[in-house]
Amino acid sequence: MIAQNIENIKRRIANACEKSGRKPDDITLIAVSKTVGIDLIREGLKSGLLNLGENYIQELREKHAAITDLPVHWHFIGHLQTNKVKYIADWIQMIHAVDSLKLGVEISKYAKRAGRKINILVEVNTSKEETKFGVSADEAHNLVASLFELENIAISGLMTMGPFSYDPEDSRESFRSLKNLRDALEIKNFKLPVLSMGMSNDFEIAIQEGATMVRIGTAIFGQRV
Ligand SMILES: *Cc1c(COP(=O)(O)O)cnc(C)c1O
Repeated sequence: MIAQNIENIKRRIANACEKSGRKPDDITLIAVSKTVGIDLIREGLKSGLLNLGENYIQELREKHAAITDLPVHWHFIGHLQTNKVKYIADWIQMIHAVDSLKLGVEISKYAKRAGRKINILVEVNTSKEETKFGVSADEAHNLVASLFELENIAISGLMTMGPFSYDPEDSRESFRSLKNLRDALEIKNFKLPVLSMGMSNDFEIAIQEGATMVRIGTAIFGQRV
C-alpha cells in the first residue's frame, strides 16, 4: 500500500512539474513520518523513500536510533527549542524551521562541535496566521543576513506552511510570496535555492509556485491517529 502511495505521489509531482515547465528531479520528496510506526517507515524506505521529516525531537531520536540498516536523510521540520539542538547536531540533514538568530547561533555552536555545517531553512509565516511560527517577510531580510555570518550553518533556503484550509488554492498566495521573498534576497546576493513548501493537500500548487521540497505525510502513510 505504501509503495502504491509513493508511486502515486511521484506521478502527481511529475504531472505538476510538467504543467509548470519544471523537472521532477528538481523536487525533493520529504516523507513526513511523525507518529508513524517503525515498521511502516521501513516499508516506505524499502519502497524508495530516502528523506524523512519529523516534528518532535524525542520521536526523531528514537527513530534515528532504531533505523540504522537503511539509508535515511533525517529532516527536522517542527519548532526547535534551543536546548534540544545538541541531540541532533551530529547527524541531522536539514533543520527546516529556523525563525530566530538565537536558534541559529545554537545550531552553529553544536555543528562546530560536531565538526560539520548544518543545512537550515528560515521559516517564514506567509499566511500571517497568529498560531503559526516563522518570521515575517520583513524580518526575514535581517534574519537571513545575520545567519549568513554564522560559520557552521549553511542557509539553503526558505520554508513556509500554507494557511489552514481545505481548498489548496488558498495556499497559492503564501507560496508565491515565499518565492518572491527568495528572489528579493537573491538580489542582495544571498543564495537560497531551496523552497520547502507544500503538504499532502497543496503540494501541486506549491510546485507550480516554485517549491523544491515538498513535505508529505498523510498522502503517503495514511491518516495520522
Ligand atoms: C505534519 C506536517 C507536514 C505533513 O502534513 P500532511 O498534511 O500530513 O502531508 C508537513 N509539514 C509540516 C511542518 C508538518 O508539521
